[in-house]
Amino acid sequence: MPHESRTPLTRLDPNAPLVLDTRALSRQPGSSREMRLSVPAPEDFGVEMVGVPEGAAIELDLRLEAVLEGVLVTGTATVPLEGECARCLDPIASTFEADFQELFVYPDTRSGGNAEDDELRLEDDLIDLEPVLRDAVLLALPLSPLCRDDCPGLCAECGARLADVGPDHHHDVADPRWAALQDLAGEPSPEPPEGGRGDSGPRGSVDQQGKQEG
Ligand SMILES: [Zn+2]
Ligand SMILES: [Zn+2]
Repeated sequence: MPHESRTPLTRLDPNAPLVLDTRALSRQPGSSREMRLSVPAPEDFGVEMVGVPEGAAIELDLRLEAVLEGVLVTGTATVPLEGECARCLDPIASTFEADFQELFVYPDTRSGGNAEDDELRLEDDLIDLEPVLRDAVLLALPLSPLCRDDCPGLCAECGARLADVGPDHHHDVADPRWAALQDLAGEPSPEPPEGGRGDSGPRGSVDQQGKQEG
């Protein structure tokens, strides 16, 4: 087999913000290095209602540690967040933290495990932190972000922000659907007129009973 078969399909760009150089560790188990860096958020760091604005600064607190089979990366990312309140749809801007830890295996290490598919590898002495950071951020994103914990949301009838209009906000029943419901639930609906009329009652047996008997 020609040796080119080992060439990785994609080469990491050593200058990319999320590509880390581990040469300082000299592959010496036990050696470690701490680093802080600020990187621009890659695109598509988000879900439907919230996400990290592309290019916003993500602060990384990292510890790279050489172990026997590779480099263990432990870190905390402080991530700017933008989105919409799940209740009142107000824009939200805040930050959150995402922790992560991943082992990057040396490219020439044969891993005996069966988890080769999702195994992360160094390329030369470079680590691509982006997939790790992406997973950590997406996992840590709030699914229902709120502008504040007790956000009262919107009025179900007029859409007004209840935080603005106050707790006394309500609607007189003007909607015909509500009026109909109230009729059903409350006062008995008026009887149809025919039941109350006098002319149908007397008809029947009484008259017949007065038949003369011989
Ligand atoms: Zn809200
Ligand atoms: Zn309302």
